[in-house]
Amino acid sequence: MNLAGIGMTSQRTRERLVGRLLEQGIKHWGVLDVVRSTPRHIFLDEALSHRAYEDVALPIGYNQTISQPYIVAKMTEAVLDNHPALAQGKLGKVLEVGTGCGYQTAIIAALANKVYSVERIKPLLEKARKNIRLLGLHNVQFKHDDGSMGWKEKGPFDAIIAAAAPQYVPPELLEQLADGGRLIIPVGGETSQELRLITRQGDEFHTQVIASVRFVPLFVGALQN
Ligand code: SAH
Repeated sequence: MNLAGIGMTSQRTRERLVGRLLEQGIKHWGVLDVVRSTPRHIFLDEALSHRAYEDVALPIGYNQTISQPYIVAKMTEAVLDNHPALAQGKLGKVLEVGTGCGYQTAIIAALANKVYSVERIKPLLEKARKNIRLLGLHNVQFKHDDGSMGWKEKGPFDAIIAAAAPQYVPPELLEQLADGGRLIIPVGGETSQELRLITRQGDEFHTQVIASVRFVPLFVGALQN
C-alpha cells in the first residue's frame, strides 16, 4: 500500500462523495474537508478498494463492517456542531467505542486533540493501528477491550462515538461524559435501531433521535484475539 500512489482518480471520486454528502444535508465544512482528504480505500481489502468512495457500508472481515460515509459524517457533525468546548474548531478528548478498521477514528482524529479508541477484536484493532499510523496521525490511543464500559481513566470526554448498537445505553458511557459533552450511539436490536445524540448538562441528559440506522451489535462478553 502506497500513499503516494493515491492518484487523481481517488481524489475525484472523493470529491463526488463529498458532493453526495452535501446533497444529503451534511453542512459542517470541517467534516466535509476531512472526508475530502481522507483516503477510505486504504481501510479496505484490495478486492473491495474500488468501492471505497461509494456511500455504503462494506465488510472488513470478522463479521464487521466499515460504516457508511454518510453515517460517519452525520455522527461527526452531530458531536461537533456548536459544541461548547470547541477550541479552534476542535474537540478536546473523544472516546470511540468500536474502532473497526479505523476510518471513523481517522475522521475524528483530525477534528480532536486526542482520541481514545476501544475495539474488542484484536486483528481489527491492529489493522486500525496500522492505518492510523500510515495516515501520520499521532493523537490516537487504542485499547483492546470491551468498550461498553467506556475508558474511565481517560475520561471525562467531550464526545463519545459508539459504532456498535447496544439494546440500552450503557450508564458508564453517560458517566464518562464531561459537562456539555455529547454521546452519539445507535440503540436497538439487530434489525432496527435509532441513532441517538445525548447531551449532558450537569446531571441531566437530553436525548435527540437523529436517524434510523443499522449497525452491528455492541457485543458484551469475551474479547476476540
Ligand atoms: N466506524 C467503524 C465501524 C466498525 S463496526 C469503521 O468504520 O470501521 C463496529 C465495531 O465495533 C466492530 O469492529 C466491533 O468488533 C466493535 N465492537 C462491538 N462490540 C464492542 C465492544 N463491546 N467493545 C469494543 N468494540 C466493540
